[in-house]
Amino acid sequence: MRVVIVGGGISGLALAYGLHSRGTEVTLLEAGPRLGGNIQSRLQDGFLTEAGPNSFVDREPTLRTLAASLGIEDRIRTADPSAKRRYVYTRGKLRTVPMSPPAFLKSDVLPLGARLRMMGELFTPRAPEGDESLAAFGRRHVGRTATAVLVDAMQTGIYAGDMEALSVAAIFPKVVELERKHRSLVLGMARTQAAARKALPAGEGATKPSGMVCSFDGGLQVLVDALARKLGPAARTGARVVELRREGDGWRLAVEEHGQRAELAADRVVLATPAYVAAELLRPLDEKLAARMEGISYAPVAVVHLGFAPGSMPPPDGFGFLVPTQERRRVLGVIHASSTFPWRAEGGRILLTCMVGGAKRPELVELDAAALVTLVREELRELAGVTAEPVFTEVVHWKRGIPQYHVGHLARVAAIDEGVARLPGLHLTGNAYKGVGLIDCIREAHTLADTLTR
Ligand SMILES: Cc1cc2nc3c(=O)[nH]c(=O)nc-3n(C[C@H](O)[C@H](O)[C@H](O)COP(=O)(O)OP(=O)(O)OC[C@H]3O[C@@H](n4cnc5c(N)ncnc54)[C@H](O)[C@@H]3O)c2cc1C
Repeated sequence: MRVVIVGGGISGLALAYGLHSRGTEVTLLEAGPRLGGNIQSRLQDGFLTEAGPNSFVDREPTLRTLAASLGIEDRIRTADPSAKRRYVYTRGKLRTVPMSPPAFLKSDVLPLGARLRMMGELFTPRAPEGDESLAAFGRRHVGRTATAVLVDAMQTGIYAGDMEALSVAAIFPKVVELERKHRSLVLGMARTQAAARKALPAGEGATKPSGMVCSFDGGLQVLVDALARKLGPAARTGARVVELRREGDGWRLAVEEHGQRAELAADRVVLATPAYVAAELLRPLDEKLAARMEGISYAPVAVVHLGFAPGSMPPPDGFGFLVPTQERRRVLGVIHASSTFPWRAEGGRILLTCMVGGAKRPELVELDAAALVTLVREELRELAGVTAEPVFTEVVHWKRGIPQYHVGHLARVAAIDEGVARLPGLHLTGNAYKGVGLIDCIREAHTLADTLTR
């Protein structure tokens, strides 16, 4: 069996490696000059920046297991313990997000009335039928104010989206499952934790994932480079797939590679590109399927890195802060990259990574680099009191950054799966369908590798 994978982001790479290591003949074609897709770590002027994803949360073994099999598990670095502290900008200042119920009761993150309303979570009514927006789900469980501040901040940090449009079942399936079983999330979490404690023999707690934010010593690029090394010439860059057609029981791909057009035959083809690219390739084969895929929208995001000289400002505390939409500010959030991962800025330098735009302010991503740096500096001054002059700046524009799983997403993906099943030997993977996090992409790729080699 000869498998061709289109797209060399983490989804395509993890799949290619999964197949390659099982002895399947695989070719990965990546349009760009480098592998990794959204992942791109760069060391410049003593600052290690991430153009796209910054980290992963060590909540399940998927990524660690992959790293171990690549021989790079010892290069995983856990965030500084202080990164457990997170802030949200609300009611005119940065306030700590409480991490436990007792801390929450004492915290000023929400006004007293909203904190009391949150206790009413225990009496949440059963969910209505059908898909529900994250905002509606949040209001039903924790009330209007907590939803506008905490739920919105949380989704902003992952999706940069619009919580009135995002489908809670698609973006937080485990939370919806908890509700389905226990009605109240607080009750559900308490029962799940108690059951887990009971099921775990003494001493085994130490082996469970840390739940901490992690990266690699050289940034997430370490993972990409290790995958690329294992794949060797099976992964080809500068190879854009421009056409896909059926040929007998298999497939034929037209590829533009280094200025030349070539053709490639495959028994199985996997499209691991963004959904809008896969849609274009599939349009001649199934117009309806292409339209469904194209309907998955992407939030644009600009990533603005500011680097500061040692001693030019007090090192910022904690992981960073998020800004709920209702504050009507121009930044979505700021990661205190050098406080979270101190090795990312040499010799006491300070690195801040600021996110701008998202589904609610897409026009800001149209600004040029200089305007974005000015905007971010103004916002940092007003929100966090940062007045120091940066010695380093870098701006990355993601015009179609993060896929948005809107209400109806699960039904859309089920219909896409049905359409794809009518094209034997064709498969889809990638962040547009079943999870946007790096770990989701790797998990999906592994599931597909199992299916293809079964
Ligand atoms: C700003 C930002 C911050 C993020 N932060 C985090 C984070 O902290 N943690 C986290 O877990 N996730 C984060 N994410 C999400 C995560 O980075 C992505 O979901 C994941 O990297 C997507 O991987 P992918 O392989 O599915 O897609 P991509 O990385 O988009 O890869 C698709 C690849 O397909 C290639 N391609 C396109 N067209 C063709 C063609 N015709 N022929 C051949 N190749 C083609 C592209 O060049 C690209 O390399 C972030 C995303 C962004 C944008």
